[in-house]
Parts: sequence; structure tokens; C-alpha cells
Amino acid sequence: MSAMPPGNPASNPFSSSATYLMACQQLRTVARAIDLDAGIAERMMVPKRSQIVAIPVRMEDNRTEVFIGYRVQHSLTSGPSKGGLRYAKHVDLGEVAALAMWMSWKCGIMNLPYGGAKGGIAVDPAELRGGEKERLTRRFTEEILNIIGPRTDVMAPDMGTDEQTMAWIYDTYSMKVGYACPEIVTGKPVELGGCVGRKEATGRGVVYCISETLAELKLRAENSTAVVQGFGNVGSVTCEELNKLGTKIIAVGDRFGAIRNDRGIDIQALIRYIATSERKSVAGFPSAETINSDELLATPCTVLIPAAMERVITEANAGKLRCRVLAEGANGPTTPEADAILSETDIFVIPDILCNAGGVTVSYFEWVQDLAQFMWDENQVNAELKRHMLKAFHRVRSQANQRKLTNRIAALSLGVQKVATEKAKRGLYP
Ligand code: GLU
Repeated sequence: MSAMPPGNPASNPFSSSATYLMACQQLRTVARAIDLDAGIAERMMVPKRSQIVAIPVRMEDNRTEVFIGYRVQHSLTSGPSKGGLRYAKHVDLGEVAALAMWMSWKCGIMNLPYGGAKGGIAVDPAELRGGEKERLTRRFTEEILNIIGPRTDVMAPDMGTDEQTMAWIYDTYSMKVGYACPEIVTGKPVELGGCVGRKEATGRGVVYCISETLAELKLRAENSTAVVQGFGNVGSVTCEELNKLGTKIIAVGDRFGAIRNDRGIDIQALIRYIATSERKSVAGFPSAETINSDELLATPCTVLIPAAMERVITEANAGKLRCRVLAEGANGPTTPEADAILSETDIFVIPDILCNAGGVTVSYFEWVQDLAQFMWDENQVNAELKRHMLKAFHRVRSQANQRKLTNRIAALSLGVQKVATEKAKRGLYP
């Protein structure tokens, strides 16, 4: 397998993205570790289908603004492709392609009948006013209508999008096909066929993985401390669930700032503060001291949880981490160079595609319920989520122990191998 992604750098439209190159580098490492067929590895390096669309939007001041949107379907081998839709200023094709690839491996280790996909629009949602976000979402849905469908590609929330965004996609799609089609998206409001517990699922899954890890390391949750980067859906639910286990959250940060209180941050008070603060940020929370964002990741703690962006733990700061466990709530927070540094330490890494897989797992439950028109109650959802997470966690740990691999390479190898086996058995058409 060549060292570079297929196509020359000028003709491979993804290659200018550091995040895409990182996903390819991980795939190459795994391919070597499990002796993957070179042709299959090469096929998995390039997403199956990508669409870039222009989204003209009538702004509140009556101007027309054009946004760029992406939907990348990495694999359709195992079923419809599945993955979130993010609204963020920095989004580009390569980032979306990398996130789509990671979704394939994530669905693979969780044994879900999906390929991976991701979508994005290059926009800062905080800058949208009035009905702009709704018009943007509906027009984007219209522009990618030809490649989505409940058996083709199913979207869900990600950074900058939420239940309401999914409701607009559901409505737009249903208006087009002429009947109510809740199975076109997951992470919808419960009133529209959403699944109870979907919103909390990613954070709950993160905490199930942390609990298993603490048990393995013979550490007690009630004597442990946590530091969380990112206080969106994943970060905030993770904090709440950790609090229930007695773990103190001693520092939290977001894109506007970071705060620390070694006696433990009152998470419910923090949530109330953010709801009323102008920037919707943790910055300025009165019952904690303000710290520099760079210090956040280096704060001594039992569990460090990056739950914001990709590529935040790098060669430059990996050596400064002072945690026992790194639980990756975000997708792709740790670069391969940082991984090499971490593998020399005793930091226990719970890799992203395992740690944050609770979200897509409950998305799968939602899709199944919508297809069957038979809804589950929250106890059933949570029990099934826990069962799926623990099973995947222990499969990754035995793969790591048996084959002497890091947790990341063990997790990736299980995900990649599942897709590779299906590709090999289906054969190459024609
Ligand atoms: N955006 C989430 C993720 O990165 C969930 C995707 C889904 O539920 O389809 O895993």
C-alpha cells in the first residue's frame, strides 16, 4: 500500500486536509498491523461518494448569501451510510471525509449495519439570525436529496446542529416524498419519532467506558477527578453522568475560555449560568477560577475528556498530559504523533471510535424503531446501550491484549476488519 492516499495530491481533492491525511495514516498503520489486502485498503482510503453543494440563503437583511455544504459517504458496503451533520466555520471536504471514514470504523466495532458518512456546512451557527438556520438546513437537504434516503444515507446531529435541525430535515424530506418519513434522520425530537435517551447517549456511552476502565485500573469513581474540554451536548452530559458516579469535575473549557475549581465544579449551576450568559460559554462562571485554555489539558486529573474538536492533542502538548485515562468524547482529538508519545506513558486511552460510539448506537435504535413503527421505553434504550458499549469495550481490550496493540489500533483494527471482510465477501463489481 502506498504511503500516500490514492491519486496525486493535486487530483485527490481531500489531500489538502490534515485531518484526512491523519485518518489515512491511521488506516495505513492498521492495514500493516492486520495484514490487510492492499487493494481493499486502497479502496477504503477514498470515500465512495462525495457531494459539494452551493446553498443560497435569503438572510434576515434580505441579502442572498451562498454557503458551501458537503456530504461524504465513505462506505455503503454494510448498509445505508450513517453520520452526523456539522455546522462550523472551519468545515472543509477533507475534514468531512475523515469524519466519514471514522464513522465507518465506529459502526464496524459496534456491529451496526451501516457504512460511515458525515456532512458539514461551512458556517458559524452562532452568527445565524432569525430563520436563517432553518432556511440553510432546508435548502441543503434539497440540494443533497439525490443521495440521501432511509436505505441510502441517514443524518444525525453533530457539532452546531441539534434536534431542531433534524426536525427540519425530516420535514423537508417528507414534503418531497409525499409522506412522513421519520427514518430519514436520527436524533429528532421525541415527539417526531425520536428515541428517548438519544440526546444523552454519547455522554452516557463515554461514562460506561470510563467506568469499565476505572474498574480495570482498580480506581474508584468517587475518588476520581475529571477535566473536560468542550461543554456541548457530549461534554455536558458526560459531566452530569460522571457526577452521578461521584467523580468531581475540576476543570472545564470551551472555545471562549476555561475554568477550574479543585473542590469540584457545580455542573447544574454551570449549565444554568451558560443558559443565561451572552456567549453561551463557561467563561466567567463565578464559582471557579479562570485558567488559560492551554493549561486545561495539562491539569492533573484521573480522567481527561476531550469533547470538542479533532487534533487538539498533538506532538506539542501530549507530553504534558497529567491524566491516568484519556477518554475521547470528540472525534479524532489525538494526532498520530501524539499517539506515539502517549504509547510511551501509562495513560490508558479510550479511543474515539469506541468512546463516543453511544450516539450512533442509539441512532441505530431510533432508526430501527422508526422502521418498525414500534417505540421502546428509556429503560430498554439505556439497557441496550450499556450492553452494546460493554461488549465493544471488552472486544477492544481483548484484541489489544491478545495482539499486543494499543487500544486505538485494536479498536480501529476491529472496525476496519469488519468492513474489509464484507468487501471481500461481496467481491469487486464487475
Ligand atoms: N455525530 C455523531 C458521531 O460522530 C453521531 C452520528 C449518528 O448518530 O449517526 O458519532
